[in-house]
Amino acid sequence: QLGNATIKAELGRSSWKLLHTMMGRFPEQPTTDEKEALKSFIYLFSRLYPCGECATEFQSILEKYPPQVSSRVAASQWACAVHNIVNQRLQKEIFDCGTVAEKYKCGCDDEGITA
Ligand code: FAD
Repeated sequence: QLGNATIKAELGRSSWKLLHTMMGRFPEQPTTDEKEALKSFIYLFSRLYPCGECATEFQSILEKYPPQVSSRVAASQWACAVHNIVNQRLQKEIFDCGTVAEKYKCGCDDEGITA
């Protein structure tokens, strides 16, 4: 059904945007607690993602490609890579992960010197 496909795609775009933007704001040198928080978030996200078939597929991707949370770059590159795996499955274009840092800005007024 076309209507449902449109809604599912919109949810996907919003979700990816949030995920990539979060990675872009993740500390460059995270504490153990921050690493654990991101890892938990990703696993909970994969359980609670509203599109059930998407969630199931994403969980099996996580089994093969566990979240990388050691740094901002590691997390951003991991998210880009798993998004590309979903892209590939859905026969979409593969995204150049060299450009994620500049693409996903949060517009926050506390970006500081590392933004
Ligand atoms: P999207 O894939 O939503 O991407 C949005 C924008 O992000 C792109 O236009 C591009 O500018 C940028 N982008 C593209 N690739 C990357 C990347 N690798 N890294 C960073 N930025 C990138 N849909 C289904 O039909 N079946 C599924 O099983 C399914 N599983 C999903 C699982 C998850 C966890 C999520 C978040 C979404 C899933 N979706 C699924 C939705 C699907 O991935 C798309 O979001 C949706 O089809 C809309 O696609 P789009 O072409 O607009 O671009």
